[in-house]
Amino acid sequence: MPVPNTPDNTFASTCCYCGVGCGVVVKKEKNGSVSVAGDAEYPVNKGQLCSKGINLQYTVNDRHDRLLYPQMRYNKSMPRQRVSWEQALQRTAAVFKTFIEKYGPDSVAFYASGQCLTEEYYVINKLIKGFIGSNNIDTNSRLCMSSAVVGYKMSLGEDSVPICYDDIELADCFFVTGANPAWCHPILWRRIEAHKAANPEVKIIVADPRRTDSCALADLHLQLLPGTDVFLNHAIGRVLIENGDIDLDFIQHHAEGFEQYRQVVFERTTAESAAICGVPEADIRLAAQYIGNAKGFLSLWTMGLNQSSIGVNKNLSLINLNLITGQIGKPGAGPFSLTGQPNAMGGREVGGLSNLLPAHRSLDNAAHRREVEQFWGGTTISDKPGLTATEMFDALHDGRLKAIWIICTNPLTSLPDVRRAEEALQKAKFVVVQDISNTPQTLAFADVILPAAAWAEKEGTMTNSERRISYLSKVVDAPGEALPDAEIICRFAQTMGYRGFDYASAEAIYLEHVRLTTGTNLDISGLTYAILKEQRSIQWPYNQNLKQQGPPRLFTDKVFSTPSGRARIHPVSVETRSAAPNDEFPFILTTGRIRDQWHTMSKTGKVNKLRKHISQAFLEVHPEDAARLELTDDDLVVVRSCNGEVRVKAKLSSGIRPGVVFLPMHWGKQLGSDLNRANNVTSGLVDPVSKEPDFKYATVQVEKYRKP
Ligand code: SF4
Repeated sequence: MPVPNTPDNTFASTCCYCGVGCGVVVKKEKNGSVSVAGDAEYPVNKGQLCSKGINLQYTVNDRHDRLLYPQMRYNKSMPRQRVSWEQALQRTAAVFKTFIEKYGPDSVAFYASGQCLTEEYYVINKLIKGFIGSNNIDTNSRLCMSSAVVGYKMSLGEDSVPICYDDIELADCFFVTGANPAWCHPILWRRIEAHKAANPEVKIIVADPRRTDSCALADLHLQLLPGTDVFLNHAIGRVLIENGDIDLDFIQHHAEGFEQYRQVVFERTTAESAAICGVPEADIRLAAQYIGNAKGFLSLWTMGLNQSSIGVNKNLSLINLNLITGQIGKPGAGPFSLTGQPNAMGGREVGGLSNLLPAHRSLDNAAHRREVEQFWGGTTISDKPGLTATEMFDALHDGRLKAIWIICTNPLTSLPDVRRAEEALQKAKFVVVQDISNTPQTLAFADVILPAAAWAEKEGTMTNSERRISYLSKVVDAPGEALPDAEIICRFAQTMGYRGFDYASAEAIYLEHVRLTTGTNLDISGLTYAILKEQRSIQWPYNQNLKQQGPPRLFTDKVFSTPSGRARIHPVSVETRSAAPNDEFPFILTTGRIRDQWHTMSKTGKVNKLRKHISQAFLEVHPEDAARLELTDDDLVVVRSCNGEVRVKAKLSSGIRPGVVFLPMHWGKQLGSDLNRANNVTSGLVDPVSKEPDFKYATVQVEKYRKP
């Protein structure tokens, strides 16, 4: 049984929703349910929680549609039946062995989640890369932050968020771009609000095609056209150079690539860029003035830059602004990518993507492969990058991939061009779904269903957006026969006959993971569960010799992890890969989140209080466009792209640009209809380097629904 951290039956934990990573205190009540409160001592949130965090207890207390037992079917025409764990894992192992023997290790794949704990990521990664011999592991984190990973690596030489949250109170200029933290990272936003209230001279710039709630706090809203971010960032860079508001000492001694960058940003005038972005030239100059005058400049971004077919270039063009102004490695300054999921960072740390190895090692580095291979003692690690999220579904579609194991994610709502993904699962030879509750869209295709333990029903660690590792306590037992994800994977690995998966506990997995970080940039070799339990959380690094937390912010010595030790300023191209609107598809569609829902609503969608904020999908449309389309509020509209169709109610708003429409991304198939699923109409394009899909730009047609 779980042992409380304190005498009054309370346990320390971390919110399992967004990457802010708020500390919570979970109390086990006498009736076996749990209650949750913000942890007043926790440095991230100091007791505060947002609407999702306040309702966290329902993720554990509401068990009405939990998966309780393994289920299986022997062929696609049979109904699934309850089976024992042994039967489910033996059958899965037999099918995996057959495919691996017949078609090779790349015929199977694991598709996991940024909500997995670090220990879970670690064993999945070890199993597929180190023992099965394929790199076919990817996660839904590919859909949210892989462009930021590449951006950091290309500019700073490593995938490390260089700032800490305490920089918020030290900054005097914030550039929030492609993000709506007032709704999506609310507790961080409250810190920015409080800082601005106490220091009215602090400047906040928000760049977004929509006037979101974050704009209420902004001194300047740059309502740019979707897809024009590189033009905007280059234009700001140009004005900074013209005004002499750049850090020449940093550029000369700690950076490279400035001259090429200068040439690129001077290729068009600020007025030309302003016209392309659809914002006033004066506003671009004002933004540059705010940034140029700042002592501490923080750039914050998330999906608006990452989820793009040019996501890496958007990231690089923004990071350039911090580099040319020398606003990095000092208090209140730096490029700060907000992570959407609670443990996308932990996944990056254990190398849980198809192109990574543990502790930020690279798959394309032979020495790194040998190092990890010898440590694990399994098979040769393949040098061939594995399939990324969307590539896995493409490969199922054309038969290259035979089996997929889906863990803690709901791809048939969250993937772009989702009807094609649905066809892919239909064609798959074998589908395993491991989850805590009923996600009907994806479960419908499962040959094997494995019930998993939820948050607070297992122990482990997570890392938030500021590199803060926290320990999550087990508070209650999982219902039925559900097991922690790591235990399921380890039992399967042993059924396959692999050595090295007989861990005695989650802590044993964690200790193996930290040993593998020794000597790397994220060295946490000195960090034990005991230290995490005592101190609640630690920002990495924390190595064996220092026996203490590393610096709260990185690159304070201005030495970067590139071969030259200098940060790279990239002269990125402004080229777009998306089609311009045309007569057939005259609108640009962008998608995003609403305040009280989380991902595909598999948890928040079941909480009445959270459904009250916005209860159904909608299309946000500007009144000028609505007038031309003869639409009024609540009229049913049809949104069509070349990939499919959505049918939802119209919501007129002057907060969106004319010519642009917005759909929330949360809704999936309901009552047999998929017509409110935004991803029916999203683009199939991905960034060519990060392979992150574009959820922020698709050309569509919109019309009032008329009964046939
Ligand atoms: Fe949870 Fe994020 Fe809200 Fe904090 S801000 S309570 S981590 S959802």
